Amino acid sequence: MRPQDILMPVPAGLCCEPGGFHIDPVRPVDRAVITHGHSDHARPGHGAVLATQETLDMMRLRYGDDFAKTTQAVRYGEEIQLGDVRIKFHPAGHVLGSAQIAVTCKDTCIVASGDYKDAADPTCTPFEVVPCDVFITEATFGLPVFRHGDAADEVKKLLASVALFPERAHLVGAYSLGKAQRVIALLREAGYDAPIYLHGAMEKITYYYETRGIALGELRPAKGVKKADLAGTITLAPPSATSDIWTRRFPDPVTAFASGWMRVRARARQRGIELPLVISDHADWDGLTATIAATGAGEVWVTHGQEDALVHWCKSRGLAARPLDLVGYGDEEEHETVAADEAEA
Ligand SMILES: [Zn+2]
Ligand SMILES: [Zn+2]
Repeated sequence: MRPQDILMPVPAGLCCEPGGFHIDPVRPVDRAVITHGHSDHARPGHGAVLATQETLDMMRLRYGDDFAKTTQAVRYGEEIQLGDVRIKFHPAGHVLGSAQIAVTCKDTCIVASGDYKDAADPTCTPFEVVPCDVFITEATFGLPVFRHGDAADEVKKLLASVALFPERAHLVGAYSLGKAQRVIALLREAGYDAPIYLHGAMEKITYYYETRGIALGELRPAKGVKKADLAGTITLAPPSATSDIWTRRFPDPVTAFASGWMRVRARARQRGIELPLVISDHADWDGLTATIAATGAGEVWVTHGQEDALVHWCKSRGLAARPLDLVGYGDEEEHETVAADEAEA
């Protein structure tokens, strides 16, 4: 069977006709199989939703109980027959509950990896290499210039700055699903045991991580704390909040931003970031290319991000490769808008 008869890009997303479902659809569909909880992948309004328990819970937290007509929680490694295909979820190492979806029809296996990273992350199950015929990879950081390095070293930089400026507050911009919890967990691994403060927009999801057994130490809402008492502390906030009036409640804040984009100094300068921290929940160039090679796939489909360089790299290695041209997927490392009711939290 030709791979394109199993999975095909359509305006609603990646469509599996023989299985009767879409993966991460951007428009409402009858049956959706969802890789992870980021809002561009996990949208409300579908009929049936199949996803990990964590992804379903995150959708419920964000959209309310009626985000789909029916839901089915799928465990890693569990195999499910849908129409003429079998699907299996494997850890993607991107955020808590994130999954790659292996779709097998007759003897052809396609792995839709969603967003993924092969780097260590104390807040989620490690990425698993899944041997397949066709590997669908993201390309958020699909250029050789992107090498993230060790996230623990970036957290050391943050702690050095806190030690150097005890009279200032440190505000760390971090995407509120995944990145914020990972930064907190890395701070704890580095031995930082003081309370960590949270912007209101990240409280719900962060406390949810704790209910799933991710230990994050003592957390406090930043709201209502006296300005002077925030000297020498660390607060996590959505990236958009670190450049707005919300920051006035902090004494002389040092603004940090945890993102793979912080490798590009011009980006940090543009955003007025004093302390760029190169911490990403996406694979870097080495991670992408090593993963592609490890899957043993003879064909690679490249989606959301910088497709061209990765397609070129695959072809130079003798692999069939093409960009997928899926639309509707954002880049959570760069942007996050805070809902109006949370803006002053
Ligand atoms: Zn994502
Ligand atoms: Zn994505």
